[in-house]
Amino acid sequence: DVQLSNRVNSIKPSPTLAVTNRAAELRAEGNDIIGLGAGEPDFDTPEHIKAAATKAIQDGFTKYTAVDGTPALKKAIIAKFERENGFKYEANQILVSSGGKQSFFNLSLALLNPGDEVVIPAPYWVSYPDMVLVAEGKPVIITTTQEQRFKITPEQLDAAITDKTRLVVLNSPSNPSGVAYTLEELKALGEVLKQYPNVLVATDDMYEHILFTEQPFCNILNACPELYERTIVLNGVSKAYSMTGWRIGYAAGPAKLIGAMKKIQSQSTSNPNSIAQVAAQAALDGPQDCVEMMVSAFKQRHDFVVAALNEIEGVDCIEADGTFYAFPSFQTVIDARPDFEDDIALAEFLLQEAGVALVPGSAFGAPGNMRLSFATSLNVLESAISRIKAALEK
Ligand code: PLP
Repeated sequence: DVQLSNRVNSIKPSPTLAVTNRAAELRAEGNDIIGLGAGEPDFDTPEHIKAAATKAIQDGFTKYTAVDGTPALKKAIIAKFERENGFKYEANQILVSSGGKQSFFNLSLALLNPGDEVVIPAPYWVSYPDMVLVAEGKPVIITTTQEQRFKITPEQLDAAITDKTRLVVLNSPSNPSGVAYTLEELKALGEVLKQYPNVLVATDDMYEHILFTEQPFCNILNACPELYERTIVLNGVSKAYSMTGWRIGYAAGPAKLIGAMKKIQSQSTSNPNSIAQVAAQAALDGPQDCVEMMVSAFKQRHDFVVAALNEIEGVDCIEADGTFYAFPSFQTVIDARPDFEDDIALAEFLLQEAGVALVPGSAFGAPGNMRLSFATSLNVLESAISRIKAALEK
């Protein structure tokens, strides 16, 4: 029997990928399953982006690139930050990686010593705590309620920070809750962070563009520019441009930290895929109307899904500010049914009885809720929700 490392034994496989796989298994057995588990847009990658990649192949752009990304892509990223966010970066402050996931992985490995604490508000993206654990850090979870729209308060943040805290993670709009912090709320969190000069902040802006609010996108640096020297901005092309399979994410921050993350990457995967880098550059530099088209489809589905979920007895779903997730509470349903112990049992029931795959909220540190991805057509969503309703009312 092979003895595995404590490191790997401390983590679990991604629960969202597990749900997707389970749905695929049941489907392969001939069951009619609607998968609302996956966190990826259903649209094809826009044509001009694919064309840039095809050309890159034809041009023979098929070799190693600089570990931290091609100069051309880094230039496009720097221009994006300046144009869309008002942030200024030099090339040595940017690292391109194989997806946003690798960016956070590099960050954890470059920053944390054993026992260092990372403050993570729940509900959280499933990978943050496990990547912190791989780096032998300690996730410190702040729990939130639906009443507070799943957003942490300055008091909660202050209470979670100790002298071991190295990093605070913010993700707005949030996967899975779909909520975004306002500029005022971020200013209030920034006031707390200002009191702890040794604490770094990671702002994961992966859903920046998938936002329905009147107020434009903002992150902690817009709210509190004084934090520039200790904030790392994480972003990528996966969600905004429907490019999940291309695997391009990027990070911007203090040159020393970015350099350390680059060193980690240089001894693991090296450069991200050369062709995908050309595609990402075309996405950032090219026309943005493709993004608007996708966002308006997400908004329409969001409005349908939230209303339809709230018509199911015992289900309570808040309006999201962005993303393509709804995060309804099923707690009343769970409490009323002795046959479901928790949200995990409910997810299994809905998979078996309704043929609908959702991810239980406990995977995101918020038991009692369920994450439903509406990155699929309105027809499919209609049928999924009526099946859920029928199965629960049976
Ligand atoms: N950050 C958040 C909040 C996410 O939801 C995801 C993907 O699900 C990522 C980062 C990573 O995206 P990718 O590695 O596909 O670029």
